[in-house]
Amino acid sequence: MMLRIEDLHAEIDGKPILKGLSLTVNAGEVHAIMGPNGAGKSTLGYVLGGRAAYEVTAGSVSLEGDDLLEMEAHERAAAGLFLGFQYPVEIPGISNLHFLREALNSQRRARGEAPLSGAEFLKVARAQAAALGMDAEMLKRPVNVGFSGGEKKRNEMVQMGILDPRIAVLDETDSGLDIDALRIVGDGINRIMRAPDKAVVLITHYQRLLDYVRPDFVHVLADGRIIRSGGPELALELEREGYGAIAA
Ligand code: ADP
Ligand code: MG
Ligand code: MG
Repeated sequence: MMLRIEDLHAEIDGKPILKGLSLTVNAGEVHAIMGPNGAGKSTLGYVLGGRAAYEVTAGSVSLEGDDLLEMEAHERAAAGLFLGFQYPVEIPGISNLHFLREALNSQRRARGEAPLSGAEFLKVARAQAAALGMDAEMLKRPVNVGFSGGEKKRNEMVQMGILDPRIAVLDETDSGLDIDALRIVGDGINRIMRAPDKAVVLITHYQRLLDYVRPDFVHVLADGRIIRSGGPELALELEREGYGAIAA
């Protein structure tokens, strides 16, 4: 299996947030994680990404058989893990192109692959921007600075297309998107990540993104653990009946 999370417990500032979360993701699968506000969905993303403020107190996470929790954040990325965050960071003074090329080339070096030249990289970046309907001029602007919510999400998909990860964990990639942008982002996820050797964990509040990226499994995360799992129909049931009915 690709990603295996077992009985994961994590806390921040001494406050337990994840309380025994288990999830197994195989290659070729799309998993949706849904749940009420404050359930710990974003925390799961941060813990997988290795954000320092989050302390894992019990449990294990393996990525293709390797202990993810033992890896530095950059090693996780080089191993093929991509994280899309609910609130993408702005990086004033660093152009999108520069940032993306550094990110890609540092991963390539870590894997023993030759870094791309400026011209080679520009070709890749332009192709990804075009596929996501993003103006190539935006590649030259400082990372996310002054981007609208929808532009940031689209930019995140360009980033994902360039890095070409094995597994993507996307936290509320649909937030702030109008219907047209939602379709573009959904198409992007399918194009980049729907493959037999890749996998996606889609963290989402609403079922509408799942109309575009059809999950194989849907899980309900409440109070730090997965309380129910099912197929795509579970997302529709949640939309109809609310989280309260399921958690009760
Ligand atoms: P979700 O993404 O499901 O809405 P989060 O993972 O963002 O939930 O948050 C889970 C819980 O962790 C919430 O109750 C939130 O208030 C709490 N939390 C997040 N950051 C901190 C922090 N720095 N200190 C204390 N509690 C926090
Ligand atoms: Mg939230
Ligand atoms: Mg969240």
